[in-house]
Amino acid sequence: MKKVLIALSISAAALLASGHGAAWSYKGETGPAHWGKLDKNFFMCEKGQNQTPINIVGDYSVNLEKFTLNYGKKATKWFNNGHTVEVAFAPGNTLKIDGKTFELKQFHFHTPSENHINGVSYPMEAHFVHLSKDGKIAVLTVMFVEGKKNPYMQKLINKMPKKKGDSYDIRGLNLKPEGMLPTNLDKYYRFNGSLTTPPCSEGVRWMVLKQPVEMSRAQFAAFEKVLDHNNRPLNPLNARKVLEK
Ligand SMILES: [Zn+2]
Repeated sequence: MKKVLIALSISAAALLASGHGAAWSYKGETGPAHWGKLDKNFFMCEKGQNQTPINIVGDYSVNLEKFTLNYGKKATKWFNNGHTVEVAFAPGNTLKIDGKTFELKQFHFHTPSENHINGVSYPMEAHFVHLSKDGKIAVLTVMFVEGKKNPYMQKLINKMPKKKGDSYDIRGLNLKPEGMLPTNLDKYYRFNGSLTTPPCSEGVRWMVLKQPVEMSRAQFAAFEKVLDHNNRPLNPLNARKVLEK
């Protein structure tokens, strides 16, 4: 029991303070294939059996519970932590599922997508990271496809934190988290997984929305220039099932 609590506090700390533990990256000697050996706290990156990302193949349609979003509190900070660009939020945005309440801490981006859907990789994936009072994590995922210019995303692009350590106060932009979501929140995939960055802690609830959001090619380029390839490779499903609604 004690071990579990320690693992949870590590993942909660990793969420709130990136840069915790050994230096890691997306290529070479400190890349994903080596994460498990870079730091003793990163062992799950190598030994875990329920890791994210995965290739999502919805093969088990069930009457999944609808999650409830109670968003509306605005973004406070837009910053570059050296691994991704991240938007932090004021307290009070919540997601309810399994009778539990999770509070939105931040969303951040990966180019290209980390998860695949039926073998398809998307140009970008956003992770909305939520934390419960007892340290459990729930991630709501939005996929992006090429299409129309996205005004919400353009506000972020105009103030893009291009270099590691760049940080901007964006309270004046009045960006609320729901502004980035697609219209259909009913259809989604669900699976048990992990953080996709060290320490790769498991026990994370993943919800991947089926409806993607559009963004223009020039807008993707603005993210790709800063993020390069910050996607962890796919992991095996092992004993898990992907549920869908
Ligand atoms: Zn992520």
